[in-house]
Parts: sequence; C-alpha cells; structure tokens
Amino acid sequence: MTLTREDAVSLDAGDPLAAFRHRFVRPSEDVIAYLDGNSLGRPLQSIGKVWASFAADQWAGRLIRGWSEGWMELPQVVGDELAAAALGAAAGQTVIADSTTVNFYKAVRAAINLRPGRRKIVIDRDNFPTNRYVVESLAKDLGLEIVWLTGSEDTGITVADVEGVLDDQVAVVTMSHIAYRSGYLADAEAITSAAHRAGALVVWDLCHSVGSCEIELDRWQVDFAVGCTYKFVGAGPGAPAFAYVNTAHLDRLDQPIWGWLGRQDSFEMEQGYVPAAGIRSMISGTPSVLGILAVREGAAVIAEAGIGAIRGKAQALGEMTIALADDWLAPLGFTLGSPRDSARRGGHVSLVRSDARELCAELTQAGVIPDFRTPDAIRIGLSPLPTSFTEVWDGLDLMRELAR
Ligand SMILES: *Cc1c(COP(=O)(O)O)cnc(C)c1O
Repeated sequence: MTLTREDAVSLDAGDPLAAFRHRFVRPSEDVIAYLDGNSLGRPLQSIGKVWASFAADQWAGRLIRGWSEGWMELPQVVGDELAAAALGAAAGQTVIADSTTVNFYKAVRAAINLRPGRRKIVIDRDNFPTNRYVVESLAKDLGLEIVWLTGSEDTGITVADVEGVLDDQVAVVTMSHIAYRSGYLADAEAITSAAHRAGALVVWDLCHSVGSCEIELDRWQVDFAVGCTYKFVGAGPGAPAFAYVNTAHLDRLDQPIWGWLGRQDSFEMEQGYVPAAGIRSMISGTPSVLGILAVREGAAVIAEAGIGAIRGKAQALGEMTIALADDWLAPLGFTLGSPRDSARRGGHVSLVRSDARELCAELTQAGVIPDFRTPDAIRIGLSPLPTSFTEVWDGLDLMRELAR
C-alpha cells in the first residue's frame, strides 16, 4: 500500500521534533525539497543573530583584548559542548579546529606515533577520498604499508573483515562510522575492540554520524575521532571540524603540526616546541571564532532535541524513503544502494540508476535538491531537524515524475 501525501502530513503532525523546523532559515521559494543536508546543513536562524552581535559587541567592542577574554578557550569550551551533545565524550578530550582533512592527518599520524615499529594502516576502499589520500600520503612519507578492505554496499565493512587482516604489524585501523555513499553504519564499538585486541589503535571519521545518530566515544573506548560540523551539525560552509583524543592518550599525544597555539605558554614565544597539557596540544594555529560560535548553536539544538530523538526521526524518514522508492522507483529501474536494515543505515539513502547524474541535475533545476555521487548514485539526505516527511514525499514524487 503506497504511502499517500496525507500519510506524510500525518507523520509530520505526530513528529515530536516538528517544532525544530522553524528554528531554521526558510529556504527560498524555488526550493520544493532540500535533500542534501548530509552535505551542507541548513542555517539555524540563531547563527546570524549570534554573528551580528559578536561583531558589534565582542569584535568591535573588545578588539584584540577579546583573545584573552575567552576567545582563545572557545575551541575547548565548544568542543566539550559538542562532545556532550553528540559524541558521548566527557570533557577535556575534544577541540574544534581546522578542517576534517587536517584533523584526520594529525590524528592518524599521532596514532602511528603511539605504535612505533608497526608498519601497517588498515582502511577501506569505499572511505571518503580525503581519508584515502591522507593515508596514502602518510604511507609514502613514513614507508608504511596500506591494507585495503572492500565491503559490500549492503554490509559495508564488518568486524570479521577487520579481524581478517589484523596482526601485530597493524598500527592503525581507520574507517568512516557512516559510509558516505551507501550510508552503511559500521559497528564502531566492535571494530574498535577488535583493533585493540591486536594492539592497534582506531581513528574514526564521524562526518556523517555526528548529529544524525548516537555516538558513544568514551564507552566504545575509541582512541581518536574526527568529523565535520557543516553536515548534520549545521555550522555552515567550511565551518571548523572537531578532533577527539581519548584521555588515555593525552599524556603521550604527539600530533605532527606543531604550532604556537598548541604549545605550552603560547604567548611566551619560546624557542622549541613543548606540547600544552591535555587536548589543547591538538590545536595548531588561530581558531575560527565565528565558525566555532556557529558550531555552538548546532550543538545546542542537538542537545535540546536529544540525539536519540534525532536518530529516531532519521530512521523514520529513511523507512518512508525506502517504502516510496520500492513502490515508485524500483519499477523504473532504481536499486537501493543502502542497507535495508535501518539499524545499519545512517541519515541518508542512496538510490542507484545509470543516469543518476543527469537526473540529479534535472531535479535540482526543478527545485528538489539531492546529491549525486559517482558513478550512479543519488543520495537522499534526511536531516532530521529541518526536514519534514511531507518535504521528502514531495521530493520523491517529483523524482518519480522526472525518472519516467
Ligand atoms: C565530508 C567529509 C569529509 C570532509 O573533509 P573536509 O576536510 O571538511 O573537506 C571528510 N571525511 C568524510 C568521511 C566526509 O564525509
């Protein structure tokens, strides 16, 4: 039985998170459905207000004095706020800084430094390009061997896949918690403990899971994690990323980009680098204050809604998307490029057909904005806070029209 538009309207009426939609700036009239919140989240209204008042009161008012009146601590303060809202991490282990790419480089290199003598890095073929390239660069510079894993779209990388390649030469295992193409949600806890049993460390990329599903970094005993804040956290294009280092490693943390702001007593301008105590030494240079203030708004709205409720809505939106795709799109030649089991699926659904690139362009023209991933996938991003069931229904309805 096909879900009707009335069904979608009543799902919205019963949605406990419905009120959060109004916290976001309304899109322009030509947008029928925004289904790409997994690439760039929509702006919260509060962000513009925070920025305007910061510019007027803090920046203009305090000028350079602002740095010693709290701006310099913002990477850690807001890191802790995001950690509490979305990462399952106690205070003192998270900073907001740099981009995911840079933090990933620092984290993997720091993990390698904690496992001297071991020569291998394990990573999956379907990982996001930046992760693959950074690992290739590190392997080239340090003379390490890369062990590539290949998962299927349905099952992604399993614990057994990882266990199959672990030995006493593996320094680091690194993977995305949610695969960027298929949306497959990896079993981060089990993979982490398998790596630990072999004496290796893990670096998780949380770009697609932060703000879309539950993360328990401390409980899972994750060593390092990084992720971006412009997808489901909604902090805006190019907003700074985060880096998490488990307390267990902070004493011996040795990340490769030794900058003045990660040094002890930065403003003494001493010769030679001595890392600051704790997570501060993950920082290299001057923080993006405006970016961090936007992360703070995103973290606050996630904390208020509750990550459990957000995950619940993401799953419900995913179920509706798959039900409609089965009814409307499968007969038109689409296949599902994501796990059917919602427990193993993150906040987006991939639909595959050979002309996905052209169809995506036509959809965007017509006001339905999903995104295209080579070679043949359309990703339907289901950002739970700003997206309604009706919006997704309308978007897929147009997709069926155009796909015919
Ligand atoms: C989006 C994304 C990135 C982006 O990295 P940037 O440095 O922000 O460009 C990295 N890794 C994964 C898994 C992503 O999904």
